[in-house]
Formats: sequence, structure tokens, C-alpha cells
Amino acid sequence: MSSVSPVPFLSLPLSEKILIAVKELGYEFMTPIQEKSLPLLLEGKDLIGQSRTGSGKTAAFAIPILQNIRLGDNYPQGLILCPTRELATQVGREVRSLGRRFEGLQVVILCGGVPAREQAQGLENGAHIVIGTPGRILDLLNRGALDLRDVSTVVLDEADKMLEMGFEEEVESIIEAVPTSRQTLFFSATFPEEIGVLSKSYQKNPVTVKVEEPAETTAIQEIAYEVERDDKSNVLLRVLQQHPAESTIVFCNHKANIADIVTRLQDLGVDCAPLHGDLEQRDRDRVMAMFRNGSYRILVATDVAGRGLDIDHLDLVINYDFPRNAESYIHRIGRTGRAGRSGTAVSFYEPEEDGKLFEISTATGRKFEKPKLGFKNQHGLAPELRKAAMCTISISGGRKDKLRPGDILGALTGESGGLQGSEVGKIELHDHLCYVAVSAKMAQEAFRRLRDGKIKGQKFRIRLEE
Ligand code: AMP
Repeated sequence: MSSVSPVPFLSLPLSEKILIAVKELGYEFMTPIQEKSLPLLLEGKDLIGQSRTGSGKTAAFAIPILQNIRLGDNYPQGLILCPTRELATQVGREVRSLGRRFEGLQVVILCGGVPAREQAQGLENGAHIVIGTPGRILDLLNRGALDLRDVSTVVLDEADKMLEMGFEEEVESIIEAVPTSRQTLFFSATFPEEIGVLSKSYQKNPVTVKVEEPAETTAIQEIAYEVERDDKSNVLLRVLQQHPAESTIVFCNHKANIADIVTRLQDLGVDCAPLHGDLEQRDRDRVMAMFRNGSYRILVATDVAGRGLDIDHLDLVINYDFPRNAESYIHRIGRTGRAGRSGTAVSFYEPEEDGKLFEISTATGRKFEKPKLGFKNQHGLAPELRKAAMCTISISGGRKDKLRPGDILGALTGESGGLQGSEVGKIELHDHLCYVAVSAKMAQEAFRRLRDGKIKGQKFRIRLEE
């Protein structure tokens, strides 16, 4: 995982115009590729950056170009080569956004699809930053319409793709038309040998910057829904209905939300419980035991309460409140998709939390699916999604009373008891307490047998937990 405590743009020696633009665009913190490359690029270093689309790489190279731009000089000073027209257009949009505070800034896009002659005429009005595909740029260069003698920064965006598409010769001819005093940047998702060759020919002591890709560990499907605060509890029901799960944790940032959610779910007949720091230790232990043994389908928890949760696997994690930082996100969702099982993590974000979603996805390198929610209201939950498969019986004796799981199993399934072994679940022994899960259908029967009988010749207090 990359940086988890993001660094603000304000920490860089950037011009006021850039800082204002960045703020207006809602970028508060740098993405990992920006954090690693911007300080070096501002010092004028050559660089090979490994990054993919969505990492914020465009701003990483656009900001240093803008920082050095001289608006009074009408010749291109920054040149960005892209493999496709689509990418060039996208990069153009980002450069213009970041350059919004530079009055009179001319950003010109040069790709096929428009007659070269028109573009040549357009260039006569001046250009500060040129973005385009190698074929068209070389064409304009050869026509004498494009003058690259003032270019101080050259960027090869998606360099691997450009080479794959056979643009190597064009790229070389273009770079050779730029003065050698230039700064030369390569951004690429992969590093085939040819990039090394190109780098040796055209870069000076380049630094390599990599952003760790997340390990291919997860079988977690990560979904994010934009939800207005007032709609969250309705959307929660829809998500629970759409993602049938045996075990779910709903995470909230504040304890205050928890009681409301639990009440609503319990009113619908869902076996669920709250888990937060204000519970007494005994109650926390009981809630966790009951969740682990399948007596609750859903826990509604805060991060703090979630820390000590010793759970092997969850089918579904719901971030009812969007986590405060990447670390919390990773921690919350890390309990699902374990041990080769698949899991789902659904995060709600409020419209103004869009930036946070981006921040977490770049800090963690994870991609969110963002399906649209329809308008359908969800009033209840299917019966099979409400009731837990198991019930918990507590026994007022434990390890220190010399009870063993076999004794309890024996008491439930022996001659005096009527349960099948398969109807008894987890038996969790504490010092003077035991939680035993039994199949919900047999709960009353098991309770009577234990209450009226003995375990290892002794009488204990027996409770059927709700
Ligand atoms: P890119 O990888 O350059 O295609 O960028 C992906 C998206 O992230 C673009 O829509 C940018 O506007 C946005 N973006 C870039 N840097 C940041 C940042 N530091 N904070 C928030 N959004 C950003």
C-alpha cells in the first residue's frame, strides 16, 4: 500500500496560480504518483514514472510545465505526446483546468481528424503547451508549422502504448527537434526494453518513480454508491437485499447512527446487534461471540469497536459512513474476501465526499465500481435475509469450571438431549462462561434440555440469548 497520510499541494513551492486552481478543482492532497514525482520534477529532473490512468499522472507532469510557463513567449514550451486522440483530448482538458488561472494560456491539441492545414494556421496564433499524437505532430513539424526550439519539457504519456503502436521513429524525430537542455519525462504503465533504450538515448540521469500496485490478493468486489445522507437507511436495505449475505458488518463513523440503524433493522425482524466502544466488555464479548457463531447476521459497528473483532470471514462489509482515511478503509474491508473466499465491500459516499472516494482509491490503488442506484424504495427484507441460522445459549460455567466442549456437546446430543451433532455449532469457552450455538429451529428444545438437566454432573445457569 502506498502513502496513507496524504500530503497537501500546499507543501510544494508552487505558484499562487497553480495552488488556487488545484484548490478550485477540489484537489487537496497529492495522489501517490504526484507526491513522489512532483518535488523531483519541480527541480527539473528527468523522470520515468510508472503509473496508470486514474492515478493523477496528468497533473504530475502538467503542474511542472505550468510552473515554468512564460506567457509572454508565444512559442510552445511544453510538449506532451500521447498515443491516441482520446488521451490527448483528456490530457488537454486536465491541462486547461490546471491552467485556468493563467490568463491567455494557449493549450493546443494536435491530432488527426482535423485537417493538418487548419491546425497549422491555428498555430500561427501562438501556443504555450502542445499536446498531440506523434504522427500529426511530426507532420506539422515537417511542414514548418510547428517550432519546438523553445520547448523546455517533453512528456511521453503512455510511452509503452506509443511504442506498441509503432510510433518509435516519430517519437525520436520529434524529441530530436527539441533542444537538449530540455527536461524529458516518460510515463508508462509497463516497461518494455524499448523504453530503456529510448531513455538511454534521450534522458539525463532519470529518476524512476513507481507507485505500488495493490497485491492481487483480493476476491473483493468493491462498490461505491453516491447516497444523500437522508437516503442512507433506505439504500442500506436495498444493498442488503441485493447482496444476500450470512454475515455483514455495517460500519459507521459515529456511535449516534448505530442505534437508529439497529432499531430499524430489528423492527424489520433482522437478527442484528450494535457494537461500539460504550458497551461493557461483557456485552461486547457476547455480541462478538454471537456474531462469530452465526446468531447475528449483521453487526452495526464503529471503527473502534471493529478493531478487536476476531472474525475469519465476512460476506459483506458496508461502509454506511465513508471511512475517514485509507487505513480505516483497508482495515474495514480486510475482513472480507479472506482465505480465497469472495466478499463484497459496499461504500456509501455523500455527494460532497466524492474527493474522499478518489483519495482513497488512489492511496490504495483500488478501483470502485460505481453503479447507479435506481429510485426503487425498499421497505423490508426477504425472510431468508432476516433470521440467523443459529441461536446462542449461554452457560454459567467455563474452562475454569473444568468444562470442555465435549461435555457440552454431550449434554446436548447425548441420551438426555435430543439434538443431532450437526445442530450444534461453535462452542466458545471462557473462564466461567460458555456460549454455544445451536440451530435456530432447535433453540427452545436445547435450552429446555440444558436447563432441566446437568452438565458433567453439575447444574449451571442457562440462558437463551436474544
Ligand atoms: P489521470 O490519472 O491523470 O487521468 O487523473 C485521473 C483523475 O483524477 C482526473 O480526473 C483528475 O482530475 C483527478 N485528479 C488528479 N489529481 C488529483 C488530486 N490530487 N486530487 C483529486 N483528484 C485528482
